[in-house]
Amino acid sequence: MKKMATMLAIASYLACNSPETKVPAADTLAKKHTDTTATLHGDNLVKAEAPDAGSEMEQGYCLPRGGNGKMQSPINILTSEAGKDDQKGMIVKFQTDIVGAENLGHTVQLDFKEGSICMADGKTYNSKQFHFHTPSEHLIDGMTFPMEMHIVNTLKDSTPNAKPSYLVIGILFKMGKENKFIKEFLKDLPSEEGHKDSIPSGSVNLNDLANEVVKSGKISYFSYDGSLTTPPFSESVKWVVIKQIVEASPDQIIAIEKLEGNNARHVQSVNGRKIVSHS
Ligand SMILES: [Zn+2]
Repeated sequence: MKKMATMLAIASYLACNSPETKVPAADTLAKKHTDTTATLHGDNLVKAEAPDAGSEMEQGYCLPRGGNGKMQSPINILTSEAGKDDQKGMIVKFQTDIVGAENLGHTVQLDFKEGSICMADGKTYNSKQFHFHTPSEHLIDGMTFPMEMHIVNTLKDSTPNAKPSYLVIGILFKMGKENKFIKEFLKDLPSEEGHKDSIPSGSVNLNDLANEVVKSGKISYFSYDGSLTTPPFSESVKWVVIKQIVEASPDQIIAIEKLEGNNARHVQSVNGRKIVSHS
């Protein structure tokens, strides 16, 4: 099965880069992928996880077909080209409770309790979940990091039928000392794909991580307008990539990497988008 997934990834690469090559079209591959089992997830093949995802499809090495956007994520953030905004760092406050840990095969995800919120930039968002990418999806000055965490929030006043508008907070990790926050849930992550375990209320506290990146209630970060990095790649994401690089022990990062494999989408073209540096 693993071998088949790799072959699909190669075929997808060829399909994206050589239009004349006699390989199945990307949509055929996507269908094939859907028709087979949920275990077909090799490197760079992911399941749709966003609330507005229509179907399962493969991530591949290039932009998805149809509605190819110019505001895709992740990107390589060039610090020298980021516009400065020294006025204010964003005030971020979380009121969250973490109640579930899921092994989705392509990522490990922890779920916030219904009603958890994130207040940022004067707006209130519903905090949905956080998950990990190994290695990082965003690059800083061309440099990749061993792990990136995404905290996914949707705008609270989104009506059920409206396309969700996201605030995703990206936190980059490097190898160093053991991370208190990760320690709180690492033992609770199910080792079997597709399994979900509940977490006792209060045993995992996001503020233990926030304390490492939020100074005096404010954060230093890069912001830009982009997309989800998994299907359906919706371009309705306000990205906040925290400047503070957080440490986690090699054992912690490797444990997560073992569960999810390489699940980082390749960097996408910036296409002249404004990246703002907030100190
Ligand atoms: Zn993500």
